[in-house]
Amino acid sequence: SYKNFYEVLQENAKKFGKKTILFEEDRKITHKELKHYVDSLARYLELIGIRKGDHVALLLTNSKEFIISLLAISKLGAVTIPINTFLKKQEIEYILQNSDSKVLITQTKFSKEVSDVFQTSDIEKIIWVDDYPNLDEKNLSFEEGLSIEDYEHLKPQADLDDTFVIIYTSGTTGKPKGVMLSYRNIFSNILNIKKLGNITEKDRFIAYLPMFHTFTLTVSVLLPLYTASPIVIIKSIMPFSNIIKQTLLKRVTIFIGVPEVFSALSKAKFPWYFMWFHRIRYFISGGAPLSKTTLERMRQKFRRTPLLEGYGLSECSPVVAVNRPEKQKDLSVGPPLPDYQVKIVDSDLMELPPGEIGEVIVKGDCVMKGYYKNPYATEEVIVNGWLLTGDLGYLDEEGYLYIVDRLKDLIISKGINIYPREIEEILNAHPDIEESAVVGKKDEHHGEIPVAFVKLVENVEKFDEKKIRAYLKENLANYKIPKHIYVLEDFPRNATGKILKRVLRERLNRGEF
Ligand code: ATP
Repeated sequence: SYKNFYEVLQENAKKFGKKTILFEEDRKITHKELKHYVDSLARYLELIGIRKGDHVALLLTNSKEFIISLLAISKLGAVTIPINTFLKKQEIEYILQNSDSKVLITQTKFSKEVSDVFQTSDIEKIIWVDDYPNLDEKNLSFEEGLSIEDYEHLKPQADLDDTFVIIYTSGTTGKPKGVMLSYRNIFSNILNIKKLGNITEKDRFIAYLPMFHTFTLTVSVLLPLYTASPIVIIKSIMPFSNIIKQTLLKRVTIFIGVPEVFSALSKAKFPWYFMWFHRIRYFISGGAPLSKTTLERMRQKFRRTPLLEGYGLSECSPVVAVNRPEKQKDLSVGPPLPDYQVKIVDSDLMELPPGEIGEVIVKGDCVMKGYYKNPYATEEVIVNGWLLTGDLGYLDEEGYLYIVDRLKDLIISKGINIYPREIEEILNAHPDIEESAVVGKKDEHHGEIPVAFVKLVENVEKFDEKKIRAYLKENLANYKIPKHIYVLEDFPRNATGKILKRVLRERLNRGEF
């Protein structure tokens, strides 16, 4: 029923006016205030030349400014490019240039990273959200943007099938590509989740994972904005104790995270106010495989609150499937959301029966418009309306989806498929091992051989390889047992904590280990 997010904002401001929609540290922002800020900034952006279809990049940590900018840009029918704040200068410049952004909204913290963007991209102006010392014609102040009053004439410009955001995939498998998502894409995801979770304005969300990532953007920012559920904004995931504190203090009811977070939560020691955790209706995990160990630890600790695993990818806005509270299956990511279809296919795109492993493909309104300026890459992944996810999985008889691995991470040894995730699951279940990553190493005779990297549990000082090998032998066929096991202090990771296997593989094949 909505065409864009401005209509949502308008309606909620009318309905909930003085109620809080954003919490940021000790500050509260009401629905009405949010709408006012968005109107002001939209007018300001218009005054500096932004029109429907223009691109505006955000390089911001989690903040109310992030949300205000996103909505203001969208009011004009312009497109937001949220940039990963963990990227280095060159990577940021690449995205600014590739996305044809005209304006950049950022904070002084990133002044070094963006110092050359007037030369390296089409950026004409930078809007600084905090005190930038050298304001001039090109360097503008966000605060000034919020003081504009004459915005009444400005009507929302965006339509359902316009591009709302372009999200550059984090590149765990290659160079980042700009995923174009429309309002239809995002609304479809939000409506499906809202219905399944029965989300209302009485719920409260906490956004501590980075907002530039689709998972957080859709599920922890846009969904609650839609349902008028207050959002507790947390700048950074560290310190973790702050997230716990804010969750309890602000009475959060929906707690969304990635497996790493739940692993930490399941091991955290809590003070007396631990009991207030029962206010949480759901824990939801996505983004990477949730291990059975974490799931079981969470169950023991929070008996009353289910931890539901879901699955998605940026190209699908992002949620594709999620477990239902009334019927949860361990290690499954649940059935697809009601409006989407999921099939498993072989390499000729022929559908496979339940139980057989193949590529997961998805059809529905969540499927992206395409990769920005990259029709060739788009054609490779969208075939007759079906999105090829690049993930391997299977469906059971009841339509529950299981993700086995990524196609690109699959190890083929002497023509036999080895799924690293299966080996990692066994390694992670060992009491000495905190986390693991198994990748393929090029091998003259086998094609590839499995090699494991492990991070030990904190108080384990010595790595007893013999013991681990004996344990693996008990649990895995010989050909799956890693030929080498290396201990790492920690893994190379992306912004959401996902292990960058590409980096490990490259280093391994360069002979670094
Ligand atoms: P890139 O697309 O560049 O490789 P990325 O992997 O970070 O980067 P995202 O869209 O953020 O891209 O992540 C989507 C991927 O995460 C999925 O394709 C899938 O491999 C993995 N994933 C997400 N949820 C789960 C889950 N519950 N279990 C297993 N894997 C998951």
